[in-house]
Formats: sequence, structure tokens, C-alpha cells
Amino acid sequence: MNRFHRKLITPIVLIVLGVFILFIDSIAAKILSGLFLGVGLGGFLGMGAFKKIKRNFTAPSSGAKKYENLLPQNAEADVVQEASAVQAEALGAAHRKKQWRKTEDGVDKILDMFITSVESRFSNFNTIAIFFPAKDESYMLRKFRSKSEFVNKNALLKPRHGILGSLITEGLRPFYEPNFTNQNATLYYYDDGRRFKPEELIHSIMLSPVKTDNVTRGILLVDSTQANAFSAEDQEFLTNAANLIGITVYETYLNTGRSLDYHRLVAMNNIEKEFWTNLEFDAVMDKMRDIIPYAIPCDRLTISLKNENEKNSAAVVRAYGQNSEELLNLNFPLGENAEKSIVNMAYSKNLSFYRNFSADQYEIRYCEEEPRCNEFASFLAVPFGVDMCKGMMFIESAKSDVFTDSNIDLLSHIGTSAGLALEKIFILHQANALATHDGLTGLFNHRHFQIILEKKLSACTRYNDPLSLVLCDIDFFKKLNDTYGHPFGDVVLKGVAAKLESSIRMDIDAAARYGGEEFVLILDKMNAETAHDTVDRIREAIEAMVFKTADGRTEVNVTMSFGIATFPKHGKKPPELINNADKALYDAKKAGRNRVVVY
Ligand code: GH3
Ligand code: MG
Ligand code: MG
Repeated sequence: MNRFHRKLITPIVLIVLGVFILFIDSIAAKILSGLFLGVGLGGFLGMGAFKKIKRNFTAPSSGAKKYENLLPQNAEADVVQEASAVQAEALGAAHRKKQWRKTEDGVDKILDMFITSVESRFSNFNTIAIFFPAKDESYMLRKFRSKSEFVNKNALLKPRHGILGSLITEGLRPFYEPNFTNQNATLYYYDDGRRFKPEELIHSIMLSPVKTDNVTRGILLVDSTQANAFSAEDQEFLTNAANLIGITVYETYLNTGRSLDYHRLVAMNNIEKEFWTNLEFDAVMDKMRDIIPYAIPCDRLTISLKNENEKNSAAVVRAYGQNSEELLNLNFPLGENAEKSIVNMAYSKNLSFYRNFSADQYEIRYCEEEPRCNEFASFLAVPFGVDMCKGMMFIESAKSDVFTDSNIDLLSHIGTSAGLALEKIFILHQANALATHDGLTGLFNHRHFQIILEKKLSACTRYNDPLSLVLCDIDFFKKLNDTYGHPFGDVVLKGVAAKLESSIRMDIDAAARYGGEEFVLILDKMNAETAHDTVDRIREAIEAMVFKTADGRTEVNVTMSFGIATFPKHGKKPPELINNADKALYDAKKAGRNRVVVY
């Protein structure tokens, strides 16, 4: 075989490998295949593999352009297609582990192929071995092929140990020892302490560091029982092969890392989209309960939220997993006066943390009254949400030491998205309520009253039903304000409004603040006589109310006057009805107040 033939071997092996790997169903394999085909074809065309690639990227010829455009495009399409199938589980450690295992399998295949191509060059080899970095600057045997039965599969090359250890200590470089013997020097990739027969002794040893970006990422080694087994060109071949191993393996790892990051991004993005397109509180909470156990494997998840009206308490609003039903809807106190529970601590300090449960500490999750459960060994607590929607995600596992900082990061990320979505929903609800309700009394406002009256009247017109409209006004309210102050007047207004609302039929009638200390009731399908009796009972109920002044010393009573106009008897359109009810109210005032007058 002359020099020319030998020069041809590498490109041919690469092309064959490239075609072969092309059929493996993974992105890493496709990139690798492209790389092999590119380098192989380049070499085959007689330009020198690396020179050709360099030229392809600096001054593309028409052929090179083909690769340039096609390969990245295909790879990109593959990645996008793969990512679209990624769901929340892509956030989890299990997914990452699985992907890395797949990558390691792929790397094993790549290394096997390299060993095959090295083997085809060195028929006089005894062992071909590839080492990868291990802990403490050592190198472990990753892949080998040998004519000897005594290779130590778990071999570890430690710095300073033996001839290879010295090389590691000095700094790995291409190395060839043509007149070596392991009679006295130990080669640690063979079974230690084994007595070699004379014909088994190694006499040539050659290695090349696997380098990328000037970082040593492995060792490619070949030895032989013959002395002077390898030529200078053999050394060059080994160096090239080691370089290629470096590029392909490193690219494969990088690619997996990148695609995992991408999966994560897509999964997170999908989750955020779902949070943000949902305008329902329950949908967001359900989504959280469904996603979190996927993202962080656990045995129980409980999500609690501060109570809207009572800021010093919260409730478990979602629960998942073992014994979770027992905690669902649990109401628990927060703040200074609450017990030192884990969740209370996390709430009050806005703290994310994970720990193992221990007998005397961290025993109470929520409060003393919670159902006891000793099946869990560790927990993770992460608060979420902003201002008005403060919540807590609480995760437990039967195993100890399972939660990590990256779990906190992930959960915080999910919590931030969900929290912002909840806040948006909350603000939206508030804005809606403000548009239709009176701020002080919580009754419908004047504008919304007009809309309801319009709707109800058109229904009554259609079905020929009556409807009674009641205008009411607190008697001598100005005097009450003057005597006890405006804030006390507000208390009375709220109390009267609540009494009015609780005295009418829920979801049938309606109560609104007409303005100032005037209110309006819509009594659906009610004729004037029934309305009179109903309203008179309301009048009595208000008269019976007792309001205590802030100092608690004085008890105050109020009375109210009422005017009723009934559809269709006293008017068919809203303005007419309102006017006539107002006239009836005026009459009630004139007649001495604290009474009901029908128009
Ligand atoms: P009448 O029996 O004739 O209805 O006498 P009145 O004093 O109730 O009548 P008037 O309409 O003269 O007084 C209404 C008072 O209600 C005047 C105003 O200061 C007071 N008022 C209106 N809105 C509010 C409010 O939101 N809070 C308080 N505290 N007072 C209010
Ligand atoms: Mg009044
Ligand atoms: Mg008034």
C-alpha cells in the first residue's frame, strides 16, 4: 500500500461511517453523519479534509454551498419538530437523564466505529483503547478492543501512576514508545498483578490526546506486542483520528446540551402560554397541579393561597398524590399568631427552601389540626405570586435528600408565570367588579342598574309579567352625618345596603346604589300589592337595625322611605317608571317618612 492509498483510507472510512450513521434516528447522528460525509468527501477530493472544510466556510464553491444551506436547515427542522412534541416532562430530571443516556449510547457507537477504523489500520495491534476524563485528573477506560483477555474494564489511569500516569502529570501529548516492555512497568488498563507470558508482553505503545479547543477530553491509545510496531505516518493517523474523536464526541455532547436547553425553553414557553391565555383562576391552578409533579418528581404536592378577604389565613386549594385529599381545602392561619409551621415560615419570610423532615423539627406543614402523615422524608417549599395573589407550592417526597437548588429555580419560574397570570385574572375581576359595582356598598352601581332594568323590562314585556321598581332613601341622613360624622354615615350606608340585598331574592331581584343615600330595588315579576308588602317588611327590618358608634356608647337607628312604581301599570319604559317611583318616594317623605307609598 503506497502513501496515496493510505491517504485515501481515512476519507473512505469517513464516508462509509457517514452513510451508516445517517440511518440512525437521532439529531446527533445526523449532524455527525453530515460531519463525516463532509470531511470524508473533502478528503476524497484530494484537498485534505480540514483544509476543504475551512475553504467551504470561507469561500463557498457551489458544492460547498449545498452543504452549508442544507445541513443546518435540516438539523433546525429536526430540532423544531422534536421540540414540538416536548411537554412539561421535558422540565424534569428524568427526561434529562434519559436524553443523556441516549447520548452516551450514541457516543459508544461513535467510539466503536472509530476503533474499527483504527483497527483496520493497525493489524499488529494488541489493544486499542479510548479513555475519558474521570475524577481527580484520572482517565477511565471508556471503550476498547483487544486481542488480550486481560484488559481491566474498570481501568483508571491515575496521575503519577506508571508510565501513563507520568504522562498525565506532565501534560498529555502525542507519545510513542517503540521499545517498551511492561515486564516491570505496569500498564493499568491490563489486570493489575497479572504475570504476562513472554509472548503477551507489550513492546510498543502509542497514544494521542483527544483534544478540542486545547482541552484534553480523552486519550486514544494503541499498543502492540511487537517492538517498533508503528511508523511516523501511523502516529499522524492516530493524531488525526484522536482529533476527529474529539470533534465528533464533543459536538454530540454539546448538541444534547443545546437541545435539552431548547426543550426546556419550549416546554416552559408552552406552560406560560397556557397560563397566560387562561383567564380562569381554576384553570391556572389545575395547570399548576398537573405540571409540577411532572417537572419535579414527588409523592405529594399541595398548593395553598392566601384568603382574599382575610389576609392572615390561607387555604390549600390544590393537592396531588399520596394522602393529599386530607389536606385539600384545609384552612390555616398565617402570621405572628400562627404556629411555626413550614408553610407559615415560607409565607412570612417569602422563603424558598428544601430540607429533610426530622423528628423534632419541620413536623407541622400547615397547622396543628392538619392530618398527621409521617410517610415523607423531605420537602420543598417555594412561594409564588405577587401582592394580592400570594401562594405557596409545597412538595414532599418519601425519599430524603431529593430536592435541589435547580428544583427551586424551576418551581420559582413556574410560580412566577402562574402568579402573574393569577394576578392578571384577579385585576381583571376587580376591574369588572368596579365597572358594575359600587365601591362603598358592593351593590350594583347606577350604570349597571340601568342595564339590568332595561333587560328585565324587555323580558317582562315579552312574557307579560309585572315588575316593581322601588326607590328608597334614608330619612334625615344629613343630620346623622352631621351628628356622628361622615365615617359613621358610611357604616350605616353599608349596613343598610347589606340589609336591602339580603332581603330580596338572590339571582331574581336586584339591589343597586342609585346615588348618595338613595337605593333602588328591582323586584322581578312582582305586582304592586306584593311589592308593597315585601317592601314594608324590609322597611321594618331596617328600622330594627341598631348601629353602634365607634366608641360603643351610642346606639343609633335609621328609618327609610320607599316609593314603588310597577310595570306595566305605572309605566312601560325605564324613565317613566323611575320618575313615578321617585314621585311615590317624595309622597312618602311628605307624609312623614318611614313608610312605603305605591304610585
Ligand atoms: P331626607 O329625609 O329628606 O332624605 O333627608 P336627608 O338628610 O337624608 O336628605 P339629603 O338628600 O338632604 O341628604 C343626603 C345626605 O347624604 C347628604 C350627603 O352628605 C349624604 N351622603 C351622600 N352620599 C354619602 C356617602 O357616601 N356617605 C355619607 N356618609 N354620606 C353621604
Ligand atoms: Mg335622605
Ligand atoms: Mg336623598
